[in-house]
Amino acid sequence: MIEQKNIQEPEKVSCEVCFKEIPLSEATSVKATDYIVYYCGLECYDRWKQQQAESADSEKKS
Ligand SMILES: [Zn+2]
Repeated sequence: MIEQKNIQEPEKVSCEVCFKEIPLSEATSVKATDYIVYYCGLECYDRWKQQQAESADSEKKS
């Protein structure tokens, strides 16, 4: 079996909530309005979603 040397380092992204670095393949990603946000897991995704709901709420009120 021939080993290939052109294996790329896994691309890493930072979790939007806790800023932990995670491999892109393991990240949970969500497409926001014009960019993609990444999370290390559903826990952080839930936190982010709550924050979005809160800021959307305060925008409506003002
Ligand atoms: Zn996280």
